[in-house]
Amino acid sequence: MSEKETEKLIKRWTLANALEHDGTASKDAVIGKLIAEKPELKSNIQELMGKIEEKVKEVNKITIEEQKSQLEDIGAPKREKKEEKGLSELPELEKYTDIVTRFAPNPNGPLHIGHVRTAVLSHEYARRNDGKFILRFEDTNPVNAKEKFYGLVRKDLKWLGIDWDEEYTQSERLQIYYDYAEQLLEQGKAYVCTCPPETFRSFRDEQKPCPCRGLDPAKNLARWEDMLKGNYQEGDSVVRIKTDINDPNPALRDWPAFRIVSSPHPKTKKKYRVWPLYNFSAGIDDHKMGITHVVRGKEHEVNEQRQRQLFEHLEWEYPTAIQHGRLSISGTILSKTKISKGISEGKYEGYDDVRLGTLAALRRRGITPEALKQIVIELGTTRADSTLSMDTLYTKNRRIIDKEANRYYFVPDPAEILIHNVPKQQEEAHLRLHPDDPDRGERILPLEMNNNLKVWIASKDTEKIDKGEKIRLKDLLNFKITSLEPLEGDFDSYELKDIPKIQWVSKNPVNVKVLKPNGEQDSGYAEPEVKNLPKGEIIQFERYGFVRIDEIEPKIRLVYVHP
Ligand code: GLU
Repeated sequence: MSEKETEKLIKRWTLANALEHDGTASKDAVIGKLIAEKPELKSNIQELMGKIEEKVKEVNKITIEEQKSQLEDIGAPKREKKEEKGLSELPELEKYTDIVTRFAPNPNGPLHIGHVRTAVLSHEYARRNDGKFILRFEDTNPVNAKEKFYGLVRKDLKWLGIDWDEEYTQSERLQIYYDYAEQLLEQGKAYVCTCPPETFRSFRDEQKPCPCRGLDPAKNLARWEDMLKGNYQEGDSVVRIKTDINDPNPALRDWPAFRIVSSPHPKTKKKYRVWPLYNFSAGIDDHKMGITHVVRGKEHEVNEQRQRQLFEHLEWEYPTAIQHGRLSISGTILSKTKISKGISEGKYEGYDDVRLGTLAALRRRGITPEALKQIVIELGTTRADSTLSMDTLYTKNRRIIDKEANRYYFVPDPAEILIHNVPKQQEEAHLRLHPDDPDRGERILPLEMNNNLKVWIASKDTEKIDKGEKIRLKDLLNFKITSLEPLEGDFDSYELKDIPKIQWVSKNPVNVKVLKPNGEQDSGYAEPEVKNLPKGEIIQFERYGFVRIDEIEPKIRLVYVHP
């Protein structure tokens, strides 16, 4: 490498580093970058350091504007692609021979974008490392687990392209949790507490043992038996894990692991009354299922600490844990309570109402799983919370569907126009399904032609036109406006001209309604072939936007995707 080249590299990295740090470059950072790019420079490190030092001094003296302009002249350094696609490698890979991850939803509500993040990351990590991916339903709260959500969650995951190697449902595993409860009670690492919650809380807050804490294992086991036999009622007793009652965080002092719930469970009905709480069952399962990496939202931070305490009692090693920030979408409704309330009051159509931020709603709105996956993978495991704007989501999605979506014409709020003196009498027009892909074939638009051509155009387009103006019916012909009321025109020519182009429909149009994200609807005519499209297909209505076929029978309904 010539001296000149080396100097150029030094200058480039120094300027780039300065610009990243408010105009002040650091010698050490520059040397690091240089060596990373050209390791052979290490052989003459002393001389190199001298040169860098000089350059850093020089660059730090000039203004940021000057730094920018010099860097532009010399060309910014090509960054090595750090964390390709945003996803860093799993930590502590070397500790494990086989990677096992899991997604552990509560079947108490529909999945939303936040779940997508956890599910996609856990799945992606398993697949990238030839590992195993587990789906585990955490349904140990009989009150809010609902039968319909098990199926909805599976459907959502499949739609996202997530496949799982094993599936577990915690309500079927109660005996396993009971066995560990017994073991901990026997070992004096847990106790059955019959204190009223407020009493326990005041002991806990004063860092004092409650009267139950000191009971011997035999007494605890007897109480446990009584719990199982139904000799205690809901609220009468809980099993607590013994921890350090002086822990600075009260939430980590003797937390509850089991409680009595008398309501029936959607799966096991009235078979069990003693139910483990999330931290206990999730902890036991993470160990039993050999989970090597737990990927979860950072809102579980304290829960994770509780689970670590449980692992210590059982002398197990806690898996490698990764906590990511919360992800939400702006402008959509995510709150579980608002959603179920809105649905039961009839305000929303269902979990896929377009105003909601559920996965089902996004799917219905034509957001592709690829777009969602790309977004969460690019975001990676950052701990900061992020709010995804609809615009970002649309931009990603557009890149995916633009290539795929066939084109059709839709005329919202149609206005009729008669065009006179059309020379070529055609019964139909053949138009490309996709402008950039002739191989995809054509669609046929029948024409209402009888010397004159009758077409429908969007009312909005008629507002802008004036008498004498020339307009092109896209892919058909040009005409001149001769009358505004009634709307009439005269044929002008066929060739492409630089005049406004509008979409149109002529014979046998179909009535369609387009549901917008705000819940409003557009109505109008679409070209006849739209009625033969399969439900779920995403198409583009030219000059209108992308839409997804929501329903064909009994009426054609589409959902607006984005422009
Ligand atoms: N069931 C928990 C949830 O859905 C799982 C949390 C975890 O990953 O441990 O939030």
